[in-house]
Amino acid sequence: MFSFLKKRAKNRPVVYTRPEHCISRKNIDPDALKVLYRLSSLGYTAYLVGGGVRDLLMGRKPKDFDVGTSAKPNEVKRAFRNCFLIGRRFRLAHVRFGEKVIETATFRQNSQTVGEIIEHAAEGPLEDNTFGTPETDAYRRDFTVNGLFYDIKDFSVIDWVGGMKDIERKIIRAIGDPDIRFQEDPVRMMRAIKFSARLGFKIEKRTLAAMKKHHRCILTASVPRVCEEVFRLFTYGQSAEAFRMMWECGMLGDLLPGLSDYIDRSGGKRSPEWKYLAVLDGYEKMMSEKGFEVPNGLRAAVLMTGPFRESGKDGAGRRVMQEMVDSLKIPKAAYFEAVLLMESGKRLSSPPTKGKSRFMYNKDFLDALDYNRIVCRAEKRSEDVLNEWSELYEEKGNKQ
Ligand code: ATP
Ligand code: MG
Repeated sequence: MFSFLKKRAKNRPVVYTRPEHCISRKNIDPDALKVLYRLSSLGYTAYLVGGGVRDLLMGRKPKDFDVGTSAKPNEVKRAFRNCFLIGRRFRLAHVRFGEKVIETATFRQNSQTVGEIIEHAAEGPLEDNTFGTPETDAYRRDFTVNGLFYDIKDFSVIDWVGGMKDIERKIIRAIGDPDIRFQEDPVRMMRAIKFSARLGFKIEKRTLAAMKKHHRCILTASVPRVCEEVFRLFTYGQSAEAFRMMWECGMLGDLLPGLSDYIDRSGGKRSPEWKYLAVLDGYEKMMSEKGFEVPNGLRAAVLMTGPFRESGKDGAGRRVMQEMVDSLKIPKAAYFEAVLLMESGKRLSSPPTKGKSRFMYNKDFLDALDYNRIVCRAEKRSEDVLNEWSELYEEKGNKQ
């Protein structure tokens, strides 16, 4: 990946010159390059920052490319016709290229956590002292692997926080004191789990110990942010691993106590919960290869299938899903879809008859078929009846 790792002198970053790392401009989005070059030509410092740099160093395709710069938001606006400033407290520049947005943020310091910035966004204009230097901007980030900069001026990678060696060693490590950083913004604990599961990295000992100590703080975080992160744990097909870590460090017990109790009762590490999620993960990967996103209703239904199957009573779907509404405020649409999918098991457990086959025309029918296949596979049951439904749908259902 990179030829060698260097030692850092005090108050100076380690700089990996172009031959010492593997980031090539041909893997950087051309529009992100345009933003970097334009800012640089105007005399500003312009870096590719965050997850994009991490993913490029790992040879993965970044989801998005973010830019960090010394230019103030209105200076960024002046530099691009296609630029819009968003956010009141911390102003971010969005440089738009059609549908695509290159998020361009002025270097800042850790006077406020990201969580607070979002929650207090309506309070008023940003004070200048929130802006910072490349150094402060590196230190206010969450994990060392997310704190690297790619400098467009000389194509070097600038490392203030030891991110390069942690990528090499596959470690998620909080920047600074994890006890402080997680209390400052508890959502970071979920992000640690997301990155660890997604990248196959281990969470460093002190970072993990802090998560086990402060897991309850997750209840003080903004509910919409927590809900968003819960659903992001399913993306990339590593949800079994991610939810297992959530359960082990206690955060699942805080957020979804009913589910966590079910896992404890049904075998802990050997609970059927992990089978359901493992099959869902295979499905997520297949769908994302085809360019589709799995609906959150289906994800929620699979997550809660264990407690649902255990209860077996009428109305169990509503009862188990209510927990996700109460503590995560999941959107109504996801709740209704999840309940419908869970309850569809009864209808799809016997071959389609004249009266029952109308279900084929329900808008969630295909998701219901997929949901029931996931459950069947996890429970190692035959899919014969589901195949009959699929065949009938091929024949008639999709002609409607
Ligand atoms: P992904 O591939 O999921 O987009 P990412 O690392 O790009 O991962 P983002 O949520 O897009 O994550 O955030 C971009 C960057 O902003 C991160 O890499 C990190 O440096 C910083 N960041 C995001 N959230 C936080 C946070 N809660 N606390 C500190 N820094 C954060
Ligand atoms: Mg990102």
